[in-house]
Amino acid sequence: MRAMILDAPGEPLRAAEVPVPEAGAGQVLLRVRACAVCRTDLHVVDGELPEPRLPLIPGHQIVGTVEEIGGGVGGIAVGDRIGVPWLGWTDGECRYCLSGRENLCENARFTGYQIDGGYAEYAVADHRFCFPIPEGYPDLQAAPLLCAGLIGHRSLRFTGEAERLGLYGFGASAHIIAQVAVHQGRRVFAFTSPHDTEAQDFARDLGAEWAGSSEEAPPEELDAAIIFAPVGALVPAALGVVARGGTVVCAGIHMSDIPSFSYDLLWGERSVRSVANLTRQDGHEFLALAPEVPVRTEVVPFALEKANEALGALRGGRIRGAAVLVVDPSRESLQGQVDR
Ligand SMILES: [Zn+2]
Ligand SMILES: [Zn+2]
Repeated sequence: MRAMILDAPGEPLRAAEVPVPEAGAGQVLLRVRACAVCRTDLHVVDGELPEPRLPLIPGHQIVGTVEEIGGGVGGIAVGDRIGVPWLGWTDGECRYCLSGRENLCENARFTGYQIDGGYAEYAVADHRFCFPIPEGYPDLQAAPLLCAGLIGHRSLRFTGEAERLGLYGFGASAHIIAQVAVHQGRRVFAFTSPHDTEAQDFARDLGAEWAGSSEEAPPEELDAAIIFAPVGALVPAALGVVARGGTVVCAGIHMSDIPSFSYDLLWGERSVRSVANLTRQDGHEFLALAPEVPVRTEVVPFALEKANEALGALRGGRIRGAAVLVVDPSRESLQGQVDR
């Protein structure tokens, strides 16, 4: 099969022909249709996350159809269209797993990090961690729901009943979560890099009532903020604009150092927290919610072999919505969409 392979962090991915993997016990073999590109992929490729499996096939927002089923797999049939998220395996027996917090499992393995992912024509996955894809979403539009959507949704949940919601970094996650937040009757304030007026226009198109630079103050105090950009300096910036009792949620897996700041910014029962990974319950909840909103994902398609270009465009902030690798362009629904 064709695959894009990480041999060593810091190097570009290498296009290669490798054997199709086999579905072991409890696993399914998927024919990959599309795989969305996540900022976490960048952190893995750039060496900002420790000890990835090497060589590695990245990618953890996989939409595919089941080609083969390993022993002991129930509830999934050949031909089903399913999604594979970041959480690829847990031990099911640590104190976190046993208390409904499998996202924090001490022995968790992650797709496209410790397990080969979806930057390839085929992938195997533990069937217990796969999700059915909601009907009505084409492969390309479904793929970003699997991490940008899921993690965004988990982050949004941690803002509680916040009415005035700030979103820092208007990329794949924020463009999905803005739609959910507006649907829930919240007011969205979007912060982008200074001068990124394109992203600010995009945010307003999706229902943000205000969009501006992260260096600006919003027109009023906020009740909560979610930081999607991997920039530690945004933590004190966001604390500075949330009201008493407000929460700042850090949604990314990696962030530059947070500069020291005055306790005044935290005082008044403000809180800062991170969001780590996902539980399967998050996945089922969000994939049921997305068609109700309905969330419409905006995607920028790239051919599989252009994965390095897709990562480069994401790194450079040049993606409106989500970058998605189109792995099987032979299907009619995808033809004519891949121009890169
Ligand atoms: Zn565990
Ligand atoms: Zn991700």
